[in-house]
Amino acid sequence: MFDARVSVAAGGSRMKAVDGLGRPLGSLRISLTDQCNLRCRYCMPEDEYAWLPRRDLLSFDEIMRITEAFVSLGVDRVRLTGGEPLLRDGAADLVRRLAGLPGVRDLAMTTNGVLLARHAESLRDAGLRRVTVSLDTLRPDRFRALSQRATHHEVLAGVEAAAAAGLDGMKIDTVVVRGVNDDELADLLEFGRAVPAEVRFIEYMDVGGATEWSPELVYSREEILASLTAHYGPIVALDRTSTAPADRFVLPDGSVFGIVSSTTQPFCASCDRSRLTADGMWLRCLYARSGLDLRTPVRSGAGPADLRDLIAGVWRHRRDRGAVDRLGARSPGAVFVNVESLKRDPHLEMHTRGG
Ligand code: SAM
Repeated sequence: MFDARVSVAAGGSRMKAVDGLGRPLGSLRISLTDQCNLRCRYCMPEDEYAWLPRRDLLSFDEIMRITEAFVSLGVDRVRLTGGEPLLRDGAADLVRRLAGLPGVRDLAMTTNGVLLARHAESLRDAGLRRVTVSLDTLRPDRFRALSQRATHHEVLAGVEAAAAAGLDGMKIDTVVVRGVNDDELADLLEFGRAVPAEVRFIEYMDVGGATEWSPELVYSREEILASLTAHYGPIVALDRTSTAPADRFVLPDGSVFGIVSSTTQPFCASCDRSRLTADGMWLRCLYARSGLDLRTPVRSGAGPADLRDLIAGVWRHRRDRGAVDRLGARSPGAVFVNVESLKRDPHLEMHTRGG
């Protein structure tokens, strides 16, 4: 199902691919590595994993060829993620190449911030427009318990360096886990205000790899709003203006924050995001059980039109509503993917898919 051809500013032409539920192909999240320097309990609690073989990792040339195919089908927002994207050597070089790609309107990165102080200026110079830093707590002891690493001060230094480097539109993503950090919501908002950065509270999701997830640990959007209303007074919801995953709200003093309520109020109906793993597996949904291998065709010499047709063919049939389906299918005590399946197929892991 294609819309009419639309021209892009830099010339050439591209099609707008639309899926089986009428959703465009708008945003591509590219994971640069499955490795991470934290071990957050809600994401990758183990020390060791079945890692992607290094020889399978896409080179930057291969990432560019694939991204160009996506852009020719309507993708105009690209986000680099991981694992931890700043663990990938030369990440700023890839940023520079992506920033120069006609048709990419928004180029962002999601990072845990540990290495951000080291790279903030080179990322800005390379053309990164926005950075989202994951920060779940302002307390070093909690950070250590949650991430199993003692690098909280480095994350805070990363946030500071990103602001100093002028990486505008910074966001702070906080996964709220009941009994772990649900008493820090206002503190995190105040921190964000000082940076400045827009804080987004994310409901704990039972994605692959979240082997410690349970429904009791989910601190819901309603609870987040109730807690912040008790602290600040009436909160007003802003109209949803984009396909962004967060619903946005305004506090009485005018400051804005977001909530990503993928667990209790999924937004599949407007989801235009898909994900490319570091080894070239393309996933149409965060909850997808399988994906399309794009590495093999790229390495076998597929040209731009071949790649575009492959991607368009899959997107046209996409009917995934992963988070909505999970909402209906959850049974007590059952995680989305069990440990044995994760060991067999690392593509099921959140840290391989990228958030
Ligand atoms: N390492 C980078 C980082 O920490 O931002 C990028 C990858 S990480 C997988 C991307 C995002 O996914 C992070 O904001 C993280 O908090 C979020 N995430 C991971 N597991 C999650 C879960 N079970 N529920 C909700 N969000 C999760």
